[in-house]
Amino acid sequence: MLFFLILILCISGCGYQGEATEPVPEVPAVSGDNNTQTNTDASATAEQSPIVLLKEQPLDNRAVYLNGNFIETEDSLYSIPFFGGLIMGWDKTNHIGGPLCGRPECLHNNDQCNAYVGSVPKSSLSLYQNRLYWVGVVKTDPQTRGVPGVYSMNPDGTDRRLELNWDYYQEGINNAYLNQGFVYAVHQKEEVDQADPFLRLTVRMIPIDGTDSVTILDRTGRESVKVMPFFEEKSVWFVLSSRQGETFSAQLLCWDTEKRELQEVLSKEGLSLCLDSIWKTEDGTIFLKNGVTNDHLFQLQDGELLPREDLLPNQEKYDMLYFSNGILIASGVGPNHNMKEDVIDTIVLVRKWDGTVLYEGPVSMNFQADLNSKWHYHALCALFGDENGLYYEYEWEDENGHALTTMVYYTLAGGTLREELMWAIQTR
Ligand SMILES: [Zn+2]
Repeated sequence: MLFFLILILCISGCGYQGEATEPVPEVPAVSGDNNTQTNTDASATAEQSPIVLLKEQPLDNRAVYLNGNFIETEDSLYSIPFFGGLIMGWDKTNHIGGPLCGRPECLHNNDQCNAYVGSVPKSSLSLYQNRLYWVGVVKTDPQTRGVPGVYSMNPDGTDRRLELNWDYYQEGINNAYLNQGFVYAVHQKEEVDQADPFLRLTVRMIPIDGTDSVTILDRTGRESVKVMPFFEEKSVWFVLSSRQGETFSAQLLCWDTEKRELQEVLSKEGLSLCLDSIWKTEDGTIFLKNGVTNDHLFQLQDGELLPREDLLPNQEKYDMLYFSNGILIASGVGPNHNMKEDVIDTIVLVRKWDGTVLYEGPVSMNFQADLNSKWHYHALCALFGDENGLYYEYEWEDENGHALTTMVYYTLAGGTLREELMWAIQTR
């Protein structure tokens, strides 16, 4: 199923290859796509800088779950395209979107643009003390691949700063989550003891002010472990999953960010599948499942895993099942889907956690007619939302390997979806 190939590769499975150990290559300079009729006009964006944040909040768990980079507030959406590029902003009230630059006369087409982030580790864009923070790559020498650093910027795209700079190659990080002033750095590396190789897994909490870090987890073993966090105001959950021969193990840990204590909530072995995704609903119920696949779903109840097939949609129609805020989103393709002909027929089922269906049916892509015909559908990079609507991030490619990212919002009301293209931006 090519349609979802990229998402599958990035998200599912207990393999360890998906999380980049080193900075991925820089994305080339970004330029606007002159052939798309969107409101990403540079001057309009730079002058308006319309976005104001209301309150601090934990890292958006939908972004963590999707390996994406976005934050939604009451008024705005901030997002870095899945394959990197620029920080984009969208003002929900005025329906204005574009690169979050704040520099008058900037064309947002090179690395001098305030919104430029290149390629970034997944799930780091966050909000702290009324500023945007993200983990980026610091290139002090054009010949090197750079080292990781924490950047910050005002939410209107002004006053960009490098807050913290540390060396990937000394410390090593597989993934870095930025939450409420701390980098949660996950790293697993091979070590050797008397010619006997083993793996050391560490999870650390590094203050972005550069003070001493706290070790949350430091353990050794033979198997590679996938670590997926879930952030709350005063705690961070970690689901650790690994393959043990023909079966899988899963462990659920809870880190108290104030007491700095780690508690084991669940430990299971001999599982028939890899449980590497976690979600906690607003009523406190914890769900676990395998990536974004639509095949197994468990609820944690009294220390046991309770199957919840009743919440799984018709498996012949839907391939993927996404956790999201207050809703479950099942996605699939319709009978007319034909990527060779550029006919994208997507269907979706949206329901609340209590099973109530909010929408089931096709997902319109009328905006496709406004894109230059050179762009061919490539992938669905992110799908998330809540009871009020769904965000779809799609990537398109041309014959020369360039890529265009489109973000589309579908307002969900009265059993219908209303489509609105938020932005289209060339990312390579
Ligand atoms: Zn700019």
